[in-house]
Amino acid sequence: PIPTPSAVVRSPAAILKQVFGYSEFRDGQETVINAALNGQDTLVLLPTGGGKSVCYQVPALALSGLTVVISPLISLMQDQVSQLRALGVKAAYINNSLNRDEQQQIYQQLHSGLIKLLYVAPEKVLQHEFKERLSHLNISLFAIDEAHCVSHWGHDFRPHYCRLSELKQHFPHVPMMALTATADKATRFDIVQQLGLTTPYIHTGSFDRPNIRYTIEEKFKPLAQLLRYLKEQQNQSGIIYCTSRKRVDEIAEKIADAGMNAAAYHAGMSNEQRQFVQTGFARDDIQIVVATVAFGMGINKPNVRFVLHYDIPKSIESYYQETGRAGRDGLAAEAIMYFDPADIGRVRRFFEDIEDEQRRRVEEQRFNAMASFAEAQTCRRQILLNYFSEYQREPCGNCDICLNPPKSFDGTLVAQQALSCVYRAEQRFGLGYIVELLRGANTSRIRDNNHHQLSTYGIGKDHSSEFWLSILRQLIHQGLLSQDITQGSALRLTEGARAIFKGEYALQLAEPRLQAKHVYQDKLA
Ligand code: ADP
Ligand code: ZN
Repeated sequence: PIPTPSAVVRSPAAILKQVFGYSEFRDGQETVINAALNGQDTLVLLPTGGGKSVCYQVPALALSGLTVVISPLISLMQDQVSQLRALGVKAAYINNSLNRDEQQQIYQQLHSGLIKLLYVAPEKVLQHEFKERLSHLNISLFAIDEAHCVSHWGHDFRPHYCRLSELKQHFPHVPMMALTATADKATRFDIVQQLGLTTPYIHTGSFDRPNIRYTIEEKFKPLAQLLRYLKEQQNQSGIIYCTSRKRVDEIAEKIADAGMNAAAYHAGMSNEQRQFVQTGFARDDIQIVVATVAFGMGINKPNVRFVLHYDIPKSIESYYQETGRAGRDGLAAEAIMYFDPADIGRVRRFFEDIEDEQRRRVEEQRFNAMASFAEAQTCRRQILLNYFSEYQREPCGNCDICLNPPKSFDGTLVAQQALSCVYRAEQRFGLGYIVELLRGANTSRIRDNNHHQLSTYGIGKDHSSEFWLSILRQLIHQGLLSQDITQGSALRLTEGARAIFKGEYALQLAEPRLQAKHVYQDKLA
């Protein structure tokens, strides 16, 4: 390792105790700190709440010079600086929220050696004038917080982060520490590349969040499902993620109409409106935020009790980041996702518009992993952690699959009923209509088509609409039905359906997981 120009003046353990009041390092902290003190570049991958800040704050106080922390958000800087000052640490930030005089004052303090930790925005630190100023100071360490912002693939991408390797060129002897809660391998690689870290010491902590219970619910009537869920939450704080701004607005309105305290958040709103929602949520004035992925970094609220995905996210990485905003206080929290298998096709079609071929392929691969996570029938946590190269031998006992294992049944009879209904209706109708036919619904559309006269009309009235929807989706999945997207998604029988009609083999289907959550809640009680 390159020798550091800064001398170690105080021992890390003493600082941890005297300044932060903790008697022991958490897993990984001490080795990372020692590597930094030895002048080595480091990459710290720890989940949210894992204790990343200590990893650079302790070296900042142990070394004789200044530690410069690059942070992407003004609110994050302000939080950190006020926490540090409360502990008696000389910390400050510089960004464009300060006027000239205030900035000037900080510069003076820097030159007099009155500041140990300086938080700066990436665009600021890259300015020529600012780099000039830095070169007159004794810098011990650069810490790059939220380092995944270098990655083009995530939605937290910040162009200035990609230029931070300039710091390495300007200050080759100053060690750099990159920190992130994103564990995905491609992002990890990007960080090392883009920042120009030289043979970094990499620490990867466990990404497990044992207090978060993962549940995937089949999407039937999502709005009704959502309202029922929210009613049970009794004013707990939560976030609902949707893919489009339009849907965010619609759902926030519906929830508010139902008498609950909810607000929308997306990039189409003004800065003031967004700030208002974020602050209101932090203060518990707003209980529920319905948001796009724009609602992300900088939400440091400890008591978020649930994160609900109304639509399937585009990658496991986003899913993990978003669900990770629940339960930061370590108390029980829930991550729920509504899943309609048809959404997989919808999202895939959306990728077709991406022109850059390499980018399209990466997006597709990431989504494929997400889709198989959603469709899987094994412990959710094992799959999630496995994606981050972390293997757990035992199922977790705290996800929908562990709590309510999927059951299969002989579905030959219901499959025959469903398939013959499709056949009688001349293979011209979609899922919703076939469900109505099976249930014997009294609608004008059915009467106009004279379908109430069909022999199959109402043959499935003993089962709920959700049951039939789930069965039909499974038949599509098993290749017994196909959907003709050129004909309004009309259901068609495939060659394979013949064997089912003839009863040539017993068809195993999964028992529909209707209101999965309610079933296992009773079990837990
Ligand atoms: P992250 O930035 O990784 O999300 P933080 O740095 O905010 O996490 O740390 C999360 C919490 O854990 C903070 O309250 C912090 O003070 C606490 N913490 C960090 N290190 C230790 C430690 N060694 N012992 C006890 N608590 C710690
Ligand atoms: Zn599990």
